[in-house]
Amino acid sequence: MSELNLILLGPPGAGKGTQAERLQGDFRMPHISTGDMLRAQVAAETELGQEAQRYMTAGELVPDEVIIGMIIARIAEDDARDGFLLDGFPRNTEQADALAAALEKLDRRLSAVLLIEVPDEEVVRRLAGRRVCVKNPSHIYHVEFDPPKRDGVCDQDGARLIQRDDDQEETIRRRLEVYHAQTAPLIAYYDSDGVLRRFDGLRSADEVHDRIRATLATLRLEETF
Ligand code: AMP
Repeated sequence: MSELNLILLGPPGAGKGTQAERLQGDFRMPHISTGDMLRAQVAAETELGQEAQRYMTAGELVPDEVIIGMIIARIAEDDARDGFLLDGFPRNTEQADALAAALEKLDRRLSAVLLIEVPDEEVVRRLAGRRVCVKNPSHIYHVEFDPPKRDGVCDQDGARLIQRDDDQEETIRRRLEVYHAQTAPLIAYYDSDGVLRRFDGLRSADEVHDRIRATLATLRLEETF
């Protein structure tokens, strides 16, 4: 079966992380989240983490030099040979160009860019109530829509739930501005390449997941003809 090289695109809070976790289960491909990689660096107090944290807390993008090298190295690793799922990268056209050049060098190409669309007001509601597990940031809850069984405690591993610094309302609004100014132009970029697929992020996580799976199944069928 051919490789599946995917990008999840959409505003913060669109459900990219949730979908990535499910797709990783379906297709056994690595989920490569630049946000998670950066937060791991922050937690480990590395030099890169300290540099990145200033930007993250302000809701700004971390400079391209830091991010691009990190991702290009990651997609060349063994476990990404049969495909990958990028979440949070690329975030601007410079990053998209760098990714395209790196894939070309590896003689690979993007299979699809999955765009999950959600209006701004919904993003604010979702992110302000979001809580993540301190031990595993892909365990995600919402105080109103998806509360844990015990207040403040992760159902999956019993660790404490926290609010990310950048999920404070003022930072959420800045992240949305950055998304519209820098990341949203990638919609036209990938649409003109013919790889963009759109999903309504207001539907339930299960429905979005079903639709993405159906789209990927069709893509694979088309490839075999
Ligand atoms: P996320 O979890 O994807 O919302 O990312 C959290 C924060 O990490 C962002 O607000 C940025 O500060 C930083 N970040 C994540 N991915 C990137 C990227 N591809 N380029 C620049 N900054 C990024």
